[in-house]
Amino acid sequence: MKKALQELKKRDSEIMLLNHAAETLRWDQETYMPPKALPQRADQISLLQGMIHEKVVEKSNAGLFAECGLTATTPNGPAESDDIERAFLRESFKRFSKQTKVPKTLVTELAHTQSIAQANWIEAKKTADYNKFKPYLSKLLGLLQQYAECMGYEDEIYDALLDDYEPYAKTKETEKLFDSLKDSLVPLLAKIVEKRKSGESDIIQRSFPVAKQEEFNNQLLAAMGFDLSRGRMDVSAHPFTTTLGGHDVRLTTRYNEHFFPSSVFGTIHEAGHGLYELGMGEKLSGSLLANGTSLGIHESQSRLWENLVGRSRAFWEGFYPGFKSLFHDALNDVPLDDFYHAVNSVSPSLIRVEADEVTYNLHIILRFNLERKLLSQDLSVDDLPEAWNIMSKELLGIMPANDSEGVLQDVHWSMGALGYFPTYTLGNLYGSQFYDTMKQAHPDIEKQIKNKNLLTVKQWLADNIHVHGSVYPAGELVQRVTGKPLDPQYFTRYITAKYGALYDL
Ligand code: MG
Repeated sequence: MKKALQELKKRDSEIMLLNHAAETLRWDQETYMPPKALPQRADQISLLQGMIHEKVVEKSNAGLFAECGLTATTPNGPAESDDIERAFLRESFKRFSKQTKVPKTLVTELAHTQSIAQANWIEAKKTADYNKFKPYLSKLLGLLQQYAECMGYEDEIYDALLDDYEPYAKTKETEKLFDSLKDSLVPLLAKIVEKRKSGESDIIQRSFPVAKQEEFNNQLLAAMGFDLSRGRMDVSAHPFTTTLGGHDVRLTTRYNEHFFPSSVFGTIHEAGHGLYELGMGEKLSGSLLANGTSLGIHESQSRLWENLVGRSRAFWEGFYPGFKSLFHDALNDVPLDDFYHAVNSVSPSLIRVEADEVTYNLHIILRFNLERKLLSQDLSVDDLPEAWNIMSKELLGIMPANDSEGVLQDVHWSMGALGYFPTYTLGNLYGSQFYDTMKQAHPDIEKQIKNKNLLTVKQWLADNIHVHGSVYPAGELVQRVTGKPLDPQYFTRYITAKYGALYDL
């Protein structure tokens, strides 16, 4: 077994090197690449992608896995190995098994359809004309159904897609969590709507010069302990974080003079992802385990930083004086309480990416319900826009005026990324449960945050979550860290207390 394991590790490290090389090309494409380089860049990336795929599905891997005791009926590593070795075998065998199940023709057809669908989605969104996108969505859906059948599932078809983003998660359990969340969020939102005043967040749209926003964001990165000798931050149209190597994590943000939250909370959010990537344990270095264990856990790191820390009163008690002196013209007449309220203002809106903490998850629940029905053929693409509008009314109390601000607003479905949305809400739930445990370990954490000391937060997350990479699946990690399975009560308690105080409920 020793020899077979060594060989599998060598092959995995080559796969990871190629992955990081492909990510480097993608990062460049989103940040600095001149526009005319696009066609060749697409060829470069797809060549690397093909090489990665061949290495993953290499036939002789099956024999090596078998020598290590892994087969279709015994997909977990041998019990006598330590946690890391067992996780390495489990995760690399899973990757091999999943990718060998999909015929190459389906992989290429999916990739091809995705790029055409995306181009047509952009056009459809511009003109708010769902009919321009509908035939491509329909085709994608058919291919995804085939894909899911190749993967197989025990319970329902959506499980097969969800597993690509939130490994080992089950649709039924996710539905239960979301239902309970909905039951507390919908009445809370109704109470807030009665109390909210128009114009309560107007100060956010005053002028905040971009150069000073950059200065503040650099202060934030330093306070969060994001190591700029192992990463950097640039600008892109859509903020993201990507890993180019164990000591190279790239963040991006975007700037709008009249909407500073984009860059400030975007920076905190992406740095939260970045700290996770930089905090992977040394023993996992260069292997597939040096990765977030699920998108939900990844998002829990970014949202914990962005919302529970970055939008807290303690945080702004510490950082507002400096912020105010940077933006003296805009904030001269704005006391801390008004500022804190403005950055936490709640309003039912149509656009997910601009949603506040209270309504955000309702946007996700809407998408989760609809894509699940599409996949199981309980909803047709013809009826999708109307179903969207009805559910929007039910959950948020408002209806889109056109499909651009309704069913066409997100890029995900045009990319064939069904099963992705739930990870955003799972991230919010994991994040509040982790934060609660952190508070028990450090009862003075808010006092530290108020003193602009964010390093205890960073260290606690590193020690309890980051260091493990993907050694433990999300469910097991939450149990180990917090002593309990994922429970939406932590989030609802946090949100009810915070917004109850803000809106005097
Ligand atoms: Mg994120």
